[in-house]
Amino acid sequence: MQIHAIQTGFVRTKTAQIEGRGHGLLRQLAIFTDRNWTEWLPIYAWVDHPEGVIVVDTGQGSHLLETSKSLHPYMRWEAAFKIEREQEIGPQLRALGIGPRDVKKVVLTHLHVDHDGGLAHFPHSRIVADSGEIARAAGVRGALLGYLPRRWPSWFDPAPLDFAAEPFGPFSLSRRLTEAGDVLAIATPGHTADHVSVVVRDGDTIFFLAGDTSYNEALMLAGKVDGISADEHISIATLHNIKRLAQRDSTVYLPTHDPNSGTRLASRRLAGKCGGSEGSPIVHAMS
Ligand SMILES: [Zn+2]
Repeated sequence: MQIHAIQTGFVRTKTAQIEGRGHGLLRQLAIFTDRNWTEWLPIYAWVDHPEGVIVVDTGQGSHLLETSKSLHPYMRWEAAFKIEREQEIGPQLRALGIGPRDVKKVVLTHLHVDHDGGLAHFPHSRIVADSGEIARAAGVRGALLGYLPRRWPSWFDPAPLDFAAEPFGPFSLSRRLTEAGDVLAIATPGHTADHVSVVVRDGDTIFFLAGDTSYNEALMLAGKVDGISADEHISIATLHNIKRLAQRDSTVYLPTHDPNSGTRLASRRLAGKCGGSEGSPIVHAMS
């Protein structure tokens, strides 16, 4: 099994998005009044192949840069992206020797543009996402919420992830993504109401491909809700469950925008701990 961290460009947002300020609607509006930008943060996508390649999120796409500036007040003023065409996930996979037909499955943690922006590279893959997230992101309502459904490839018709009441650690819902059961999707609501994460079990170690459950590991450990989440209590419960998992099992926590996710993967550094077994042969970070 291999996990590759593939960086598909950069994003920066207002600092009030990364760590929410205040509560309720004020916390969400604080993104618009905040004048402070974060540094440029990575946009990671993840690839894993136990029984055929599984891609987790597709990163940003260079064709979306201009569109994303014009559609929505959040996109226009509160987020900025940088990506060159050769930094998209397709060319980076080809550099790893993985062609479009090698990718058996694409799992989307959610449908924000920096996670589904590389979909065009996967016309032959089975694409799965949570049905609630698919419904929320579609149509006019989705566009009003800051999704870009009109920029999805015309063939995009994701299969719903049907979760089963099969607990994984503190999480009550999961769905196997491999026959071996070593790759699972789990429901991690918060950043969006139907956000999912993917966990990869490698021996005693869990690689937690976290999407946007938090923007970095420190915020997860501190239980700090971001500025986007609709429901603080749900977000806090999810962050708490990830922390409980990390306290119980050896867990490498890998959020999409954490500048340290690539090195943490390469060194298998466990959440909340320094060190780890350096230089594992099974994991690679690419930029
Ligand atoms: Zn997001």
